[in-house]
Formats: sequence, C-alpha cells, structure tokens
Amino acid sequence: MGKLVFVTGGVVSSLGKGITTAALGYLLRARGLGVTAMKLDPYLNVDAGTMSPFQHGEVFVTVDGGEADLDLGHYERFLDRDLTRRHCVTSGQVYGDLLARERQGDYLGRTVQVIPHLTDEIGRRVHEVARAPEVDVTLVEVGGTVGDIESQPFLEAIRQIEWEVGPGNAVHVHVTLVPYLSAAGELKTKPTQHSVRELRAIGIQPDFIVCRSERALTAEARAKIAQFGNVRPEAVIANPDVATIYQVPLVLEEEGLAARVASRLGLDGSCPDLERWRRMVDSMLNPAGRVRIALVGKYVALPDAYLSIVEALGHAGAELGVGVEIDWVDSEADGGDRLARAHGVLVPGGFGLRGVEGKIGAVRHARESGTPFLGICLGLQCAVVEAARHQAGLTGAHSTEFEPDTPHPVIDLLPGQRGVEAKGGTMRLGAYPCRLAPGTGAARAYGRDLVQERHRHRYEVNPAYVDLLERHGLRAAGRWPVGDLVELVERDDHPWFVATQFHPEFQSRPGRPHPLFRGLVAAARERAAGSGG
Ligand code: GLN
Repeated sequence: MGKLVFVTGGVVSSLGKGITTAALGYLLRARGLGVTAMKLDPYLNVDAGTMSPFQHGEVFVTVDGGEADLDLGHYERFLDRDLTRRHCVTSGQVYGDLLARERQGDYLGRTVQVIPHLTDEIGRRVHEVARAPEVDVTLVEVGGTVGDIESQPFLEAIRQIEWEVGPGNAVHVHVTLVPYLSAAGELKTKPTQHSVRELRAIGIQPDFIVCRSERALTAEARAKIAQFGNVRPEAVIANPDVATIYQVPLVLEEEGLAARVASRLGLDGSCPDLERWRRMVDSMLNPAGRVRIALVGKYVALPDAYLSIVEALGHAGAELGVGVEIDWVDSEADGGDRLARAHGVLVPGGFGLRGVEGKIGAVRHARESGTPFLGICLGLQCAVVEAARHQAGLTGAHSTEFEPDTPHPVIDLLPGQRGVEAKGGTMRLGAYPCRLAPGTGAARAYGRDLVQERHRHRYEVNPAYVDLLERHGLRAAGRWPVGDLVELVERDDHPWFVATQFHPEFQSRPGRPHPLFRGLVAAARERAAGSGG
C-alpha cells in the first residue's frame, strides 16, 4: 500500500487547491517517486459530464472515457501521467453503488448508514487507487470546503483511512485563504484559524497549512497560523499568487513542502533537478514574441470552460518562445474586427445551437483569409458545414443536432447513437485510434501515422458527404481505422487549417506540447511575422 497525502480546502472555494495538489505531486514525482492523484467530489452528480461548463468549468475526459472534474487535467499535466475514471469519485457514484447493493439484498437485515457503509465505500475506492503497484504516493484531494455539509462523509472517510494506515503513512495538507484587507493594511489569519478548528473538530489535525494569498505571507501571519493551527512554523507554507500556475511547484519547493511531506512519510526527499521546468517557466514569463489567437466559443465568459485548451496553447507557446494572448470572442457576437486582427483562430467544442452560426462564420473567415485555424469537435463539425455550404454548394447544410430536417445532414448521428435518450455517459467517450493519411500536414505534425486521441461527442461527419467535401479541398486526413469515421480534416490550400473530431487539448503536457497546438501556434507566429505583428 502506497502512502497517502490528503488535501482539504478551507475558507473559500476556487483557491487553487487542485493546482496545489498537482504541484506537490509534480515535486514528489521529481524526487523519483511513483505519484498518482485522485479527486473526491462531494456533489451528487455521478460525474461531471452532465454539468454546465458555466458552473464547473470544462469536463475533462480520461483515456478510459471518464467525464471528470477539471482538476484531473491539472493532475495529468503536472504528473505527466494518464489517469482514469477511478481517479474521480463523487457522492453520486458512491451513493449509487450503495443503493444498488442495498436493493440486491447485500445488506439484508442491516441498517445502511453513512457511517460506516458510505465511508467504507469511499475508503475502498481510495485504497483501490493507492494499491497500484507502481504507486508510492497517492494525493487525495477532497473537493469543496471544510464545513460544507456534503463533504462531511468524505472528511470522515479520510480520517478513518489515516487511522487505519497508521502514523507515517498519511499526511494532511490543508489549503486555505489568507485574505489581505487593504483598509487595515493587513493579512488576516482568522478565517484560516477557524477552518483549522473546524477540521480538528472532526478529528483531522493538518500536518501542513498551505496559505493562498494575494500578498507575500508575513512572518507575523505565519507565526500566528502556526500557533493557532497547532503546527510548527515551517509547516505553514506560503503559496501567494503567481503569474502562471507552472510557477507554483517552484514556489512550493522554496517553501520546502515536498521535502517535508516526503520526510513525514519516511520517503527520500532529496532535492530534485527542476532545471527543465524552470526553463519552461522562464520561457512562459519572458516570451520573445507574441501571437493573438481568437478563441470563438459560447462559454468565453468563464475561461475555465476551456481550461485544457488554454493550457495547451501555453505549452505550445512556451516551447516556441512566444506568448499566446487569447482573444475571447463570443460566438454570438460579431467577431469581425477581432477575427481580422487574430494570427490564429480556434473554434473549440460545444453543445447546442447557440453561437453555432458565429463559429461557422469564424471558420469561413479563417479559410478565406488564410488565418491559421484549429477546430476541435464542434469546431470540426462547423468546418464541415462551412465547406458544405460555401464551397460544395449544399445550401442549408447543417448538423442534425441543430437542424434535424436539414436537406444536407453533413453531420449526423451514428446509427448506434439513434434512440439513445439518457444523457449521462452515453456519448462516444475516451481514447480511440486515428490513422493519418501519409503525407498530410497532420501526419507531419505528429511525426506518426497512428495516434490515440480522446473523444466526447455524439455526432459524426456523415460518410455520404466525404468524397464531395474532399473534392472541395477539405481532406479527411485522419480516420478511425476500425470503422468509417472521419477524425481529422485539413486543407491543402491553406497555411494551417486542421480540425479534429477528438479533443487534442487533453493530451498536451507542459514541456511536451500537443503537435496540433504547436502547429497552430507556429503558423500563427509566421502570420504575425508576416503582418509585422
Ligand atoms: N455537440 C457535438 C456532438 O455531440 C460536439 C461535441 C463537442 O464539441 N464536444 O457531437
């Protein structure tokens, strides 16, 4: 059984607990340890797949088709490791399993209760992940904020797990907010004190208190938090705001968090080599040039809805030495000028009719003006509709998602998706192979002709229209080798025009950008150079 690091959050949500978890994971991994991470989410949805991106940010898709919380994306990127649906546990899942078993009669005669039945089930799931042979340390992040009613069974479960595994095998990291009150000119520690008290009331004494703050943590604030939080001053870790999330591991390393966590767990905590990471951060902070990418979507008011795309653009920019400025263009508004000023256009995935015509217009602009373009999922579907309508002369062509009676259903449901009514977990989900035609731009970008990419969609390019579209320059350059599905299209008559039915953003990693994002940013850089910036 591997060691466990529990991460809880105090005071407010959106603290960057997921990033703290991921960054600590990165530092432990940099010490040569096998590290994995999981999220325990107290909401009752079975998975994040049915939640609006406006509420919860993007749905992150795992290789095995799990529709997970976006924090799994942070874990994958910082740990450079693929996770699975087992790494995202929700109340909905544990209650669902428990109730199914109760109906089967598994608890016959007994009263089924939150403690011990629900907490045992949570514990079983944590152990299942932590037991994997290559895992030395499992980071377990509890979603929500200490004090929430719904997170109580999870906190009780981790308390029990710590008790079971015994001293030296688990530590608690509590991430809190230390607000700065400008009127008082002071950092305030009271909310943190209360949060720790709350945690201790349920039997959890944090070993480390990680303090998120807008300003640097003063010695005075640190001393106070240590004293009232009942930890040594060196266990109070400053984690102030930084320009990019990729600086967080460097900040935490300065504070000695990972070395102390490792030593508490009896693991080798010797100093890792962070040079490559440092260089990457340096490149992000001091880019040699800049490109502007118009991201045309309907959730642009909440950039977290496109989190993995933002990160993937950043990874590509860091490698190419350019800063990527994202111009968030609302697909329902007129993007005219802003599209004209962009060095690249990205149309991401999405659901529902709202904003679709704006996305199709953005594709048209990119095609006609030679602006580098990347379309993802719905972005590919819009590129197909655009080519069908404006090049192949198929007036009224559309996706049957938006217009069931269109005369030219160029995007349509597969026979297997017809009649599927249930919404949860019923899309084409997870990793599928894609074969790239030799000599295409995509094959050159990947440097391979067989790739695995992650999907999350119901609709597909209608095979009946592929020949016609190809005759008009939209080449089906990537296909699912098993059936006749188009996975990637590109244009030969354009500097960089690629669209994918899959989501490449989920597989981009810092230091190893996804080839298609690298391709887009490189082409945008060319365009910026050509246009004089
Ligand atoms: N709504 C489209 C479909 O279901 C696209 C989905 C997406 O962009 N993720 O096929």
